[in-house]
Amino acid sequence: MAWFRKDKTGLTPQEKKNIPEGLWTKCKSCGEVVYSKKMEELLWVCPNCDFHFRISSQKYISLLLDDGYLDEYDVNLSSQDPLKFKDSKKYSDRIKQAQQKTGKIEGVTSGMGKIGGIEVSFAIMNFEFIGGSMGSVVGEKIARAIERAINNEIPLIIISSSGGARMQEGILSLMQMAKTSALLAILAEKKIPYISILTNPTTAGVMASYASLGDVILAEPKALLGFAGPRVIQQTIGQDLPEGFQSTEFFLAKGFVDCIVNRRDLRDTVIKFLHYMWRQ
Ligand SMILES: [Zn+2]
Repeated sequence: MAWFRKDKTGLTPQEKKNIPEGLWTKCKSCGEVVYSKKMEELLWVCPNCDFHFRISSQKYISLLLDDGYLDEYDVNLSSQDPLKFKDSKKYSDRIKQAQQKTGKIEGVTSGMGKIGGIEVSFAIMNFEFIGGSMGSVVGEKIARAIERAINNEIPLIIISSSGGARMQEGILSLMQMAKTSALLAILAEKKIPYISILTNPTTAGVMASYASLGDVILAEPKALLGFAGPRVIQQTIGQDLPEGFQSTEFFLAKGFVDCIVNRRDLRDTVIKFLHYMWRQ
């Protein structure tokens, strides 16, 4: 006979099953565990260390645009597979899977909306769609968003998050850098403002084209920004890289980013800049 019996204070397997998944969220940066509902209220910014979790493009639309409404354009523009590319998977299958997983047709959502009553041409990249990579359709949709800003004489806002050009379309992806940059030059000539917002991560071909060409460049705290990865750079220049290299804070210190903006202040900051820069 046992002298001591352990009280059954633990949860039964059935009780464990009844706890909804994702009730708590652990911060990837500081390890703090926060009630997920609280995180939602805080716009997925860690209350302990200010780490900005990645949120969906739909959440940014709700956060930034008046009434959370975007009149979406070019909805059905979808990537082809001109090179019949195959690595571990066929590119055409990769696109289909991304579409099923995300419910999006491509790596960017674009259209027209209002921010603080000011009409804008708006585009936001969907990072969950093949790493927010820029193929010919992403480039074309960005180009058309710029053209809408030019033709309607309204400011342009682009929120970027991208791993760079989409290698499965080879040179066709790289050509999007020139196409979008040339159109942004026309926008600049017309003196129409462009606010570029960088979120975690914004790198490679997207960073080296439209993401870095804003009249004002805003960035979320602690985002990874840059062109090539640190190891490639280190091997190329044969030198150790400084601490914090490729963070938003480093880019601000070097004058590449104009302003680091906490997500909860993003809408107000954009409105403030639009008032400074644009006729009412
Ligand atoms: Zn944290």
